[in-house]
Amino acid sequence: MKKILALTISVFFILSISKTVIAQESHNQSANDKSLNTTQQEASQIKDFCKRWSRKLRTVKFKGCMNLDLKISDYRSVEGDVLTYRYLLPNKQGTKQTQNRPGRILFMSGIHGDEYSAISIGYLWMLNMIKHQQDNQQHWLFLPLTNPDGLFRSPATRINANNVDLNRNFPSPDWDELAIDYWKKYYRKNKRRYPGPRSSSEPETQWLVSLIEEFKPDAIISVHAPYGLVDYDGPDHATPNKIGQLKHRALGTFPGSLGRYAGEYLKIPVLTLELRAAGSMPSQKEIYNMWRDIEEWTETKIKGMEQDPVPKFSKPAKLTDTKKPGE
Ligand SMILES: [Zn+2]
Repeated sequence: MKKILALTISVFFILSISKTVIAQESHNQSANDKSLNTTQQEASQIKDFCKRWSRKLRTVKFKGCMNLDLKISDYRSVEGDVLTYRYLLPNKQGTKQTQNRPGRILFMSGIHGDEYSAISIGYLWMLNMIKHQQDNQQHWLFLPLTNPDGLFRSPATRINANNVDLNRNFPSPDWDELAIDYWKKYYRKNKRRYPGPRSSSEPETQWLVSLIEEFKPDAIISVHAPYGLVDYDGPDHATPNKIGQLKHRALGTFPGSLGRYAGEYLKIPVLTLELRAAGSMPSQKEIYNMWRDIEEWTETKIKGMEQDPVPKFSKPAKLTDTKKPGE
């Protein structure tokens, strides 16, 4: 009797264990299905994005866009479009400056949706970087199209779908006091430069600000058109000479602009390239030369690369050193 009871108990036990295992398996299965679905969903969103991007700009090719292997952020544009990014890590074996940590460079294009050349050149440089990854010295974060709604509108617009100039919507500390006033008086309410109802009101700006806070770039490069110059905001040490044929000329910053927010307020070197024309591309040679100069700038001018910054609130070593034992 005892034997039978023991057998019943163990059979019951085995059955309940196997039940648990089955339940666990089916749970894992559903988690796998979910992540598979998410991956499939993201892949089809990227495919759709590349289709629309390549239809809009002659330089951008569907296959090339797919080769960028773009990732989708958790943020969406006002119209619900994907906001895409791609990290590129430095190739350690090829690093020249072995004692220094690689610089973190945030590259963005297309914050103004109607600057076709700026968006196209960002795409070409990204493709080039991916092709020559073995030579990469820095840790890059590429954002090839930061205002998709602006580009995909017909006709394309500088502003986003809420009619906000994203490059006036950054949370510079003077925004509340100056941005609207400046827009009314200096720009006479020019619709192309509306800074928004408040700073960071736009999802695209919120996304960029969150990336700057998380990635903590040592430098930011932003591409625009058509002023034909290199503008620079930030610490003096990273002031550029020239990028390709574009010469350095300071345009100044504006309440809510990236230059004022990241360059002047956060002290991150911000390099702004203003290509000569918004509707036509520079020559192949100039595109190459500009990229060579950008890479050189990131390798020679960014101080953050020399050493990690000393933590702000650490106790100065001197104080402890001068203390006598027993004091
Ligand atoms: Zn612009």
